[in-house]
Amino acid sequence: MFCARRRGVLVTGPRLIPSGVRIARHYNWVVNADENIGLFDLDGSLADFNGQLLADLEMLRSPEEERVTDLYAAEGVSHIKARMDLIKRKPGWWANLPLLEKGKRVLEAARDLEFDCRVLTKGPRTNAQAWKEKLDWSFANLGPLDVTITFDKGSVYGKFLYDDFPEYCYRWLAHRPRGLVIMPVERISRQYEHEQILQWDGTNFDQVKAALVACREREPHEPMVIPR
Ligand SMILES: [Mg+2]
Repeated sequence: MFCARRRGVLVTGPRLIPSGVRIARHYNWVVNADENIGLFDLDGSLADFNGQLLADLEMLRSPEEERVTDLYAAEGVSHIKARMDLIKRKPGWWANLPLLEKGKRVLEAARDLEFDCRVLTKGPRTNAQAWKEKLDWSFANLGPLDVTITFDKGSVYGKFLYDDFPEYCYRWLAHRPRGLVIMPVERISRQYEHEQILQWDGTNFDQVKAALVACREREPHEPMVIPR
């Protein structure tokens, strides 16, 4: 076993090679219950994917067409889907998405509470350029945070996840019975009621901060209880 101090906390791990201590410090491969990692989604959470895509679709709309307001429904309309794919393949599109103030507010609160905030975003399977631009966007808007781009967010560790997409939230919680999800929503809905999900509609910031404090302070194996 080796031991090392990180942020004043004794951490231990198996000695894999003679220089294990130096390697572990350099690559930070030891994960402990006292590492307060907070994960932040990009699209629809910190980056205004929906707003920019709707605005770009509106520019391409002919006068006879109805305005697109529901991107999920639009995915099922072949010619609108083709437009969306073209828009998303325009060089620089992902790198220049506007920053969402609502998400930035939560990120700053988590940083103030000394969470180790990291980006966790899904990469499109057929658009490798988007992966690079997501990294560019993160560094330009958030500074040098750790960034994970993945097909499966459920495989990534954190104490909380900030994500707007319910399917990814439930997937991530499936293996984290004590995890916290903060889900940005337009308005709080009973549809997403879950004891570990806190919906954040821009009006309940005190509750968001209280949940972050509870998340940080809870001991390992204690349940995550959201102050209601
Ligand atoms: Mg999202």
